Order: sequence, then structure tokens, then C-alpha cells
Amino acid sequence: MEENLHTSSNFIKNIVIEDLEKGKYDEIVTRFPPEPNGYLHIGHAKSIVLNFELAKEFNGKTNLRFDDTNPLKEDTEYVESIKEDVKWLGYDWDNLFFASDYFEEMYERAIKLIEKGKAYVDDSTPEEIREMRGTLKAPGKESPFRNRSIEENLDLFKRMRAGEFENGAKVLRAKIDMTSPNINMRDPVLYRIFHAPHHNTGDNWCIYPMYDFAHPLEDAIEGVTHSICTLEFEDHRPLYDWIVQECEMQSQPKQIEFARLNLTNTVMSKRKLKQLVDEKYVDGWDDPRMPTISGFRRKGYTPEAIVAFCREIGVAKSFSTVDVQMLEHFVREDLKLKAPRTMGVIRPLKVVITNYPEGQVEWLDAENNPENPDMGNRKIPFSREIYIEQDDFMEEPPKKYFRLFPGNEVRLKHAYFIKCHDYIKDESGRVVELHCTYDPETKSGTGFTGRKVKGTIHWVEATHAQPAEFRLYEPLILDEQEKEEMEGKTFLDYVNPDSLELINGYVEPNMKNARANDKFQFFRHGYFNVDPKVSTPDKLVFNRIVSLKSSFKL
Ligand code: ATP
Ligand code: MG
Repeated sequence: MEENLHTSSNFIKNIVIEDLEKGKYDEIVTRFPPEPNGYLHIGHAKSIVLNFELAKEFNGKTNLRFDDTNPLKEDTEYVESIKEDVKWLGYDWDNLFFASDYFEEMYERAIKLIEKGKAYVDDSTPEEIREMRGTLKAPGKESPFRNRSIEENLDLFKRMRAGEFENGAKVLRAKIDMTSPNINMRDPVLYRIFHAPHHNTGDNWCIYPMYDFAHPLEDAIEGVTHSICTLEFEDHRPLYDWIVQECEMQSQPKQIEFARLNLTNTVMSKRKLKQLVDEKYVDGWDDPRMPTISGFRRKGYTPEAIVAFCREIGVAKSFSTVDVQMLEHFVREDLKLKAPRTMGVIRPLKVVITNYPEGQVEWLDAENNPENPDMGNRKIPFSREIYIEQDDFMEEPPKKYFRLFPGNEVRLKHAYFIKCHDYIKDESGRVVELHCTYDPETKSGTGFTGRKVKGTIHWVEATHAQPAEFRLYEPLILDEQEKEEMEGKTFLDYVNPDSLELINGYVEPNMKNARANDKFQFFRHGYFNVDPKVSTPDKLVFNRIVSLKSSFKL
């Protein structure tokens, strides 16, 4: 069952309440533990909201901890982006930690395990270790190095640290049980040799702890009480507990698993997202088509919308895939009252209003947001020449087409009724200019009731219009992607070749003052964000955040 975070309860909250009632902890401590090997994505947002809001509700603490134990993939660029994204979502950590700061302590705990006869150095190759591990049905086999003496293990492990051996020559393994039904308990590897500089510890280390060894120690060192992770780690929990126990950690964190977020039309693993960036399918981690926090930010999503979405999906113990339209729904809900309305013509068609005086410009009143009158009004120019959408005219309209066609009259939003009487085509037969007349009696806001028209269209006055580039997005990943494995394909086979369309159109003149990340609702086109990277007052660039309509129902 899905349970909402913001309503009364969910299964994780219940565990916390019970622990507090039993007096197990005075204060709960959670953590968000990203590996700095990529930018954060929307799945991480779910974990952030869960960890921070859980602690907050019970007056506890939440740490941001970089799980930086693999020097090959990690980078300070990622560290910085992660901090920025967590803050942007609206969360403030109590402590900022780096797992790499505990390398010395982890090493000492490993020594302790060796001294207790609970860990040994194994010279087997990675392939041999994999083979000896057995399968779900067959027990594993003990390594020939398993019964080395404690002295020999201590000596070898210290020499591993001192850099005497090459990458892969030796590993340190826990000595647990090669016949355990849980494969994770079959003498898991604790340390491996990597002669590689680390973004934080430089060349100090050439052995690095494995996730299964490092993570429980990190949690225990920081006094984390509830260590929340995704379901794949459920089978690792006995090992987690074993490490905490055998390393004789004072504090005993509790691992709790929940189902990771999956979204339709979305790949979420950082490995895949990195591939999209490296192979230039997209223009960086913050490309508005990316499901990264930075991509959503650049596209124009608000932190409020993302957080509301994460609260709504709640936490569950079973896998499910959430429709990406649900996220879009929260974006529309959030922008509805915040984003001023405006008019923009994406695919312009020139209209000459033949009975409007030449050289005259009048400034008409336009409401900024009919759903939020506090946002006031603006003035927009009107004259003899305007642009409308190409789509809003047809030479030979089908039934129920209420926009412009020869002889038909429509309402121009905020202005007058106009009627089409003629049009000009270029050599290819494309309509390039309309000739219309307007009726001065029908001016918007004057209470004209003489007659009705069925269509209302938007427009921009031609001589004052600001040129603008519109960037329209479609899903980056086609949805059949879920079948990828079955058909022997990779997710790259499902990258949508038409995920971005760039179009040049016009917007209202006051848009010259729009700043990076200002958000607008363009009449009939949806919500747009002023691109924070490439937009300038002279060359405005708008990213479509989301279109107006959706069939999605909450
Ligand atoms: P990825 O496979 O995308 O790299 P990860 O789990 O390896 O994901 P981490 O940086 O280790 O990435 O994750 C930090 C935290 O975010 C972890 O606690 C992890 O459980 C959580 N997390 C990652 N992906 C999701 C997701 N899709 N839904 C919910 N939580 C997630
Ligand atoms: Mg990972």
C-alpha cells in the first residue's frame, strides 16, 4: 500500500514512533548519503524529502554525507552540484560529512576484525572469488586463503595499505559463512586495492572500503539512528548488522528499506545519465530534458512542485512506476497562481488589419493573472500589424474549426474582434500574410455584447514584438524502454530523436525585462521559463516547462 508522507503515517514513521516510545533513542538522526559520482536526479529528491522531513517531524537531525569511497568515479564538481541541489530543494543539513574522512577509522575497524579472526586477505582473482561464491541454489566454496593466520593477515593487510601490491592482487574479506543462504554473507569483500588519487584524500590511500563495509560504519560513526535506503539493499541488511556488531560500534543504526522511485519515460541511474551526457545525447547534466534536479531547475520546475510530488508519492515497500504526468501535474498546480500570463507567438503569421489607422499604436489593458488578481495588469500595444499563430488560420477549415478562415470572425485576446477577408501566399503555396478588418465597437473590457464569436486567439503586436526562441521538449526516453533488457537492447535504443524542438517566434515587448528563471504562462501554450544559461534581453530563450492541459487526474 502506498502511504502518504504528509498524512498521518507511513511504515517508516511507525518504526520511528515505536523506537521513540520504547526509549531506544533520545533523538533520531537520518542522513542523505549520495555518492558524488553524478548529479542528483528526481529519485534522489524522494530520498531527500523522506530523510529530512522524517527527522524534522520528530525534532531530529539530518546529515548530508558524501559516500565518497570510490576514487575512480567521484569528483568535486559532483559534490558542489549535490550541495546546491539539496539547498535548492529547501533543505538544510545539520552536519556535512565525507565518508572519506573516516578512512583511518575504517581501517582500524578492519584491523580489529582481522585480530578477531573475522577477516582475511585473499589472493584469489576477482573471477575466482565470483566463482567460489556459489549461486542461490549452490553453496559457496571456501577460498584456499581463508585459513591464513591472524599474523599473516595483519601483515598482508598493512602491506596492502603501504602500497606493496598492484590493483586487484589482493582483497580483504570478511570471514562469515560460505554456505549461508544469503549470498551477501559468503565472505564479502571489504577492501580492494586501487592505486588512484581520491578527490578528498589525494594519494593517502591505495586501498578503499567496499560499500557494504563502509556504509554501516559511516552510519554508526555519525550516530545515525535510522538508515533509510532502497529495497535492493534488503538482502544486505544481515551484513550491515554483522559489520556494526563485529566492528563493535557503539551506536547501532537500523537499516530500513523502501521502494525506489521509478518514473515513466525516465531513466534514473546515474550511470545511464552520465552516458547520456558523455555521449552528447544531451547538452550536459542540466539539460532541461534530463531528470536531474539541475535539469528540472533549468527547465523551470519549482522546488515546491518537486517536494509536493515527493510527499504525495509517499513511501512503500513494493516496486511501482509513477506516471511522469503526475509530476507535471504538481508543476502546473504550483505555477498556476505564481506565473504571470502573457502572450507569445511560437510560429508567427503576419496579419495586417486593413481598416486600422496607419501609424497608430494603442496600449491595451491586460490582466496578469485572472486566477490571482493581486498580480495586477499590464499594458500591451496594438496596431495595424500583428502576429498570430500559423495554426490559427486555415484556408479550408474542417468542421468545428472556430479560428480564422476567410470570412470568419474571432476575438483577439485583450483586444478586438477581427475578420479575415484576404490572404497572400508565397510561391510554394504557403500562406504568409492575412488581411483582416477589425470592429472598434468590440474592444475588450468595454462590455460589448452585440454579437458573439466562438474562437479566441492570441497575438503579439508586430512593431514592438521581441524576438524569442522557444524550446519545446518531448520525453527524452521513449516509454518502451522498460522492455530493453528482454529484447537485448539498451536504453540508448529508446532515446527519442525528437526530444527538442527550437522555434523562433515573438513575445510581448515588456518581456525585455524578464530575468533568468522568470516563469510565465503563455496563453494557450503552457508554462515557460527564461533559460538561465543562454537567454539575454536581446535574444530571449524560453524553455517550455509544461503544456497547459493534461488528462492526468490525481
Ligand atoms: P544511482 O543508481 O542513480 O546511482 P544510487 O542509489 O547509487 O543511485 P546514491 O548516490 O548512492 O545513488 O544515492 C543516494 C541516496 O539516494 C541513497 O540513499 C539511495 O537509496 C537514494 N536513491 C537513489 N535513487 C533513488 C530512487 N530512484 N528513488 C529513491 N531513492 C533513491
Ligand atoms: Mg550508486
